[in-house]
Amino acid sequence: MAPWFEISIYAWIGVAVITFFTLLRVTAPYGRHTTNTWGPMISNKLSWMIMESPSGLLVLSLVLLGDVPLHWPTTIFAGLFVMHYFNRSVIFPPRTRTAGKKVPLVITFSAIFFNLVNGSMIGYYLGFVHEYDNSWLQSPQMIGGLLVFLLGVYINVQSDNILLNLRKPGETGYKVPQGGMFSYISCPNHFGEMIEWIGFAIMTWSLPGLAFAIWTIANLLPRALDHHKFYHQKFSSYPAERKAVIPFML
Ligand code: NDP
Repeated sequence: MAPWFEISIYAWIGVAVITFFTLLRVTAPYGRHTTNTWGPMISNKLSWMIMESPSGLLVLSLVLLGDVPLHWPTTIFAGLFVMHYFNRSVIFPPRTRTAGKKVPLVITFSAIFFNLVNGSMIGYYLGFVHEYDNSWLQSPQMIGGLLVFLLGVYINVQSDNILLNLRKPGETGYKVPQGGMFSYISCPNHFGEMIEWIGFAIMTWSLPGLAFAIWTIANLLPRALDHHKFYHQKFSSYPAERKAVIPFML
């Protein structure tokens, strides 16, 4: 790996660590925490579509344009990555029941920037830096990482489905989610997403994969803590045994 690329990734991980500590103090204003004090706003659904589109497209383009010979492992990594972002940018937004809800443009732009950098790093690594030959398919990292990734996808999608079905059409309020991993934690959708990208980092055994997993934790762990606090403030009978984001721990 070229030194400039390696240094850039370490710097990007440094920014993730700073972001993590910032988000522990400042609540990111979208979804239930949205506010109109962060400047101009945009439709919530449109924001999801715009901000989550670049990543998958970038990875796909860089892998196809890349000069590293393409074998099954890279095809699988790119395929899983693109499927995740197809769900997040095309399938997920119209399913949200957030009629009329808005999000500050600054959130949309920061997410676009975050996705552009992550997508470029992962796409460049897969397309131009590292050749995974087919023997990688039998490595413990590939097998273990893929299982962890799929477990994360299952938890994330199951939890998203429960949340998206809580509201009847036209409703905008909040309810106490039940079922699936909600029995243990307030935010299994965030937990699943973190597991997913840890799995991706393991199966690619790569620095860009690790950076993306760290960034996902930096974004979602503070958000889950904020959600957990919100539930306790809003619902006096909120299940006391339910942790925020890591079962039995946090
Ligand atoms: P939330 O849990 O905040 O919201 C998900 C959806 O469910 C929203 O439409 C929300 O409505 C609705 N909802 C949530 N809780 C309730 C409730 N108690 N009652 C009724 N409706 C509810 O998820 P996020 O917006 O944080 O994230 C959405 C997805 O994107 C997740 O799967 C997450 O993992 C992923 N994500 C990934 C990131 C990454 O860095 N990789 C960063 C951010 C998100 P409303 O919007 O009105 O609150």
